[in-house]
Amino acid sequence: MKNTLIESAKRMDLIPRIKEVAGCEGIKPKKIASLIAQGRVVIPVNIQREHISQVAVGECTSTKVNANIGTSREHSDIEEEILKARTALQYGADTIMDLSTGTDMDSVRRRLLKEINVPLGTVPIYQAVGSKSSVVDIDEDDMFNAVRRHVVDGVDFVTIHAGVTLRGLEHLRSHGRILDIVSRGGSFLAAWMLHHATENPYYTEFDYLLEIVKEYDVTISLGDGMRPGSIADASDRAMFEEIITLGELVNKARDYGVQSMVEGPGHIPLDKIESGVRSIKQICANAPLYLLGPLVTDLAPGYDHITAAMGGAVAGMAGADFLCMTTPAEHLALPTVEDIHDGAVVTKIAACAVDLVKTGQRKKALDRNTKMAQARHDLDWEAQFGLAIDPERAKKIHSGCKDSKTCSMCGEFCSIKIMRETL
Ligand code: SF4
Repeated sequence: MKNTLIESAKRMDLIPRIKEVAGCEGIKPKKIASLIAQGRVVIPVNIQREHISQVAVGECTSTKVNANIGTSREHSDIEEEILKARTALQYGADTIMDLSTGTDMDSVRRRLLKEINVPLGTVPIYQAVGSKSSVVDIDEDDMFNAVRRHVVDGVDFVTIHAGVTLRGLEHLRSHGRILDIVSRGGSFLAAWMLHHATENPYYTEFDYLLEIVKEYDVTISLGDGMRPGSIADASDRAMFEEIITLGELVNKARDYGVQSMVEGPGHIPLDKIESGVRSIKQICANAPLYLLGPLVTDLAPGYDHITAAMGGAVAGMAGADFLCMTTPAEHLALPTVEDIHDGAVVTKIAACAVDLVKTGQRKKALDRNTKMAQARHDLDWEAQFGLAIDPERAKKIHSGCKDSKTCSMCGEFCSIKIMRETL
């Protein structure tokens, strides 16, 4: 088998994938290779899909956005999921995760692999559980076979909740939480482990897992099965127990030549985000950090894309690299196409705000902002729409203005126009 990406990077072999990413990010190829070799940047692409857009996640690279889509047992429409994926990509997502749990998991995943040109991630334990009538009926082979099936199909990264351990569950019991485990994959594994009084196979057989993913150079996203699901549960022992375990697994994966990133919480109050992100980064040897949110209040169902984007911006400023979009439907329902649009836009806004202060990205981000400022100065509406994250919305709002030069906010008293004429 040829070298994995991390092995090539360790040899400073500047293969085309590294050069492509370097070009997109405006970073020298040697620097990208060095960051990949150290495990601080990943490019999650299955060797069968090297033709897709190469997306780098981690230090110095632009903040990336992931969109979760997927069917459920209650609502399953493949065409709708494809449309959600396309919508998310149009409005700023860099990667897609298929979280399908409906009866059509294979079909959705395989269609997405054919139709989208960016990295696709999955959570194979969903497939293992979906094949049996109950979580406790699956066995270890089902868990690993599901991973094999996904990587053979071509999936680029897989979320594996290898950090859910019996010790972590003991912390959960002794310390207490309002919302015990809110991660779907985490709850599956916890239920299985407690029923069988057995340690997590993804943890005990992690080397075997690495062997499976390495064959296709698939990236492991170490799932945060113990992520807190409420502000009251934030940053507790169970969460940090899992993070310490994930840090050990990051090192194992790197030594084995497998790229890995770490998933993080969840719900965190604003004043705990910076310390939380820095601690996770340090414990996990600066692996790229992939966050769901964090949501900064529990009180906004219907608006959780906003609570998550607020947390994402603060987390990104502290070092988070990859923001998993949350939609207005979070905590309420399977998102619609419109929810995916709203979630993608708002998360992209957070990512753009982070890049303005992120080492390695400031200049590029500032250039784009300056272009927008110049277009506003010039009252050049088309240029403003062209630079906007959501051009259609900007156009629609402006379309009602009678004066084609200014807008209806100040009309003839447009300060920009007055100052242009005066100066
Ligand atoms: S009219 Fe007012 S809000 Fe509109 S472009 Fe001019 S200064 Fe800005």
